[in-house]
Amino acid sequence: MFRNFKLVPNVIFGRGCFAQLDEIIASRRTAKDAWAVFVTDDVFKGKALENKIPAHDNDHILWVNVDDEPKTGYVDALTLQVKGMRPTLPCAVIGIGGGSAMDLAKAVSLMLTNEGSSTLYQGWDLIKNPAIYHAAVPTLSGTGAEVSRTAVLTGPEKKLGLNSDYTVFDQVVLDPELISGVPRDQHFYTGMDCYIHCIESLEGTYLNEFSKAYGEKSLDLCRQVFLDNHPDADDKLMMASFFGGMSIAYSQVGACHALSYGLSYVLGTHHGVGCCIAFDVLEEYYGDGVKEFRTMMEKTGVDIPRNVTKDCTDDQMETMISVALGLDPLWENCLGKDWKTIMTRDKAGALLRRM
Ligand code: NAD
Ligand code: ZN
Repeated sequence: MFRNFKLVPNVIFGRGCFAQLDEIIASRRTAKDAWAVFVTDDVFKGKALENKIPAHDNDHILWVNVDDEPKTGYVDALTLQVKGMRPTLPCAVIGIGGGSAMDLAKAVSLMLTNEGSSTLYQGWDLIKNPAIYHAAVPTLSGTGAEVSRTAVLTGPEKKLGLNSDYTVFDQVVLDPELISGVPRDQHFYTGMDCYIHCIESLEGTYLNEFSKAYGEKSLDLCRQVFLDNHPDADDKLMMASFFGGMSIAYSQVGACHALSYGLSYVLGTHHGVGCCIAFDVLEEYYGDGVKEFRTMMEKTGVDIPRNVTKDCTDDQMETMISVALGLDPLWENCLGKDWKTIMTRDKAGALLRRM
């Protein structure tokens, strides 16, 4: 069976294009009492971007905090808050921020039209009703969350996304000016998320021409950003993220993402940095990629946290291993159908211990 892949229908790209957001949302404001909600990373509170958000009188800017990556409880609380803002549902939900704020916007737009807690919908194609129209304005590039069909959420029982065609954004606004102020470490970690998406996709057993076409271009752009220090690095990273997301959407990520999910579940390690920590011990599986990653790290002068698992108890290690090995398709993509004979619990544990 071939997957019938849902694409983002509208994309605007270019320096300063954020100024067109008002005009874009205008087409949604058909009812007299129509209103929009801007789900915005609170890092922008009091910053220049705040004044550029095209909020009309009835609209709301919903500040979200992403110190912790999105949790189901937080999504449920935000959804309730939005429902209480006005008697009608909003005509548009606009996510402004990195992967976390974009995922929160996706999740809230879905939960406004689907009853009950978001924990009920963690999985594949469990969403019943179309979401409220939702748009993304990335301010940090690398995750590919702007193009993916998932909103990654940590719940009481699992870290699993709301995966559905309804999750895909209706509109993406790619303005490279918005990512220029990202702190250097964060820029590198999230950028490497994109680089690792490319390596895992291009070296995976699920590879096909669709994923290869996007993955190769994205990898080329990552190299221009992190090796050549290209003057148009922001434009390039923004497109690399988009293309990297397109590549994995039709293939899969691999060992690095599987292990980093283990880290993140037990230690709360954030996605980008967790991927960097995991990738650095995977030379046996992604030899050239890991070598190039280390060169990029050296060139940008960023380091990654070391010995993060050194104080973990045996129980914590067992949980980490179980979470990582529970992601069958990621391992199959990396190691093939017989992956279980290669990636044993002992082997996964030894890799995690090195992190
Ligand atoms: P993030 O959104 O968690 O943000 C990281 C930090 O950067 C935060 O402190 C944020 O406030 C700050 N930040 C964002 N934009 C900034 C700017 N322009 N200037 C200064 N600071 C800024 O980081 P991320 O790496 O983009 O996203 C990680 C999240 O994305 C995780 O929650 C992960 O689960 C999720 N994710 C989702 C997908 C998907 O397909 N939906 C894919 C990969 C990762
Ligand atoms: Zn990733």
